[in-house]
Amino acid sequence: MDTIGSTLPSDPTLPPVVMPACPIERKLKGQKALVTGASSGIGKGIAIGLGHAGADVVVNYVSGPADAEAVVEEIKRCGGGNSYAHRCDVSNEAEVRQMFERMREDFGTIDILVNNAGLQQDAPFEEMTLAQWNKVIGVNLTGQFLCAREAVREFKRRGVQPAVSCAAGKIICISSVHDVIPWAGHVNYAASKGGVSLMMKSIAQEVAPWRIRVNAISPGAIRTPINMKAWDTIEAYTELMKLVPYKRIGEVDDIARAAAWLASDDSDYITGATIYLDGGMTLYPGFETGG
Ligand code: NAP
Repeated sequence: MDTIGSTLPSDPTLPPVVMPACPIERKLKGQKALVTGASSGIGKGIAIGLGHAGADVVVNYVSGPADAEAVVEEIKRCGGGNSYAHRCDVSNEAEVRQMFERMREDFGTIDILVNNAGLQQDAPFEEMTLAQWNKVIGVNLTGQFLCAREAVREFKRRGVQPAVSCAAGKIICISSVHDVIPWAGHVNYAASKGGVSLMMKSIAQEVAPWRIRVNAISPGAIRTPINMKAWDTIEAYTELMKLVPYKRIGEVDDIARAAAWLASDDSDYITGATIYLDGGMTLYPGFETGG
């Protein structure tokens, strides 16, 4: 049987984790998805996961065309659906509009938006420049606003197509545990994710009557290039595990499976919700041994 998930890279301190094989169910067949920041890490995993589930997928990137093309090839190979890569800086309004126009021309519409593109530009607070602040807010928060707005316009224009999905459209915002956990040295990043959290809920409240669902996934520590310093040595990994009650780092497949479920009709009554996919990082791990 075709499966998602395989042997994962081994953790420095634990035996290799093998994800249980996930039977392919083409629950998203016929649906058109856009994943921003899909050339790397979590976005790449989600794009491939939605492809496995049968969706046609636009793979957005900004600086890595070869990486994006590799994701497109994997989606075509595993899902049999259509896919193409599209360069767009999600913080640029004109480029975002153009990305959605092309999607309407090439795919006819959009059913699923995964607002994933994001970055960090860290600095001690008093040294943080306005450019660092604006860059992170621009991509992580304004970028999600611009893409969600275009998606909602298209969802409302087209309405529900019962043969495709119970909902007129689904938006999944990739936030972070730092939408609730303050993060010293990363004030711009935490502010952007805190903003995503209430933006997501407010949009969800406003568009629910049109049968548009808007939810968020807030990952903890996931093994991707954005946080490599936190897991690529035994010392760093051991230190990281003090923050993770479940005692393993998250993998992009963990996020991809949740995103495919949130995009499917199996979660049709869920809107305005945030799933903390964090191995318990938000459970105050400092209190594990009492307070
Ligand atoms: P990553 O591996 O660095 O990937 C980031 C992706 O975003 C890349 O595809 C990049 O494209 C794209 N991107 C950056 N700026 C962009 C822009 N202006 N327009 C369009 N795309 C842009 O990072 P990741 O760890 O997968 O993170 C993905 C999301 O998960 C982010 O929102 C991050 O905040 C969130 N998150 C990650 C973790 C974690 O532990 N990894 C935890 C919590 C939340 P190019 O490669 O083409 O530049």
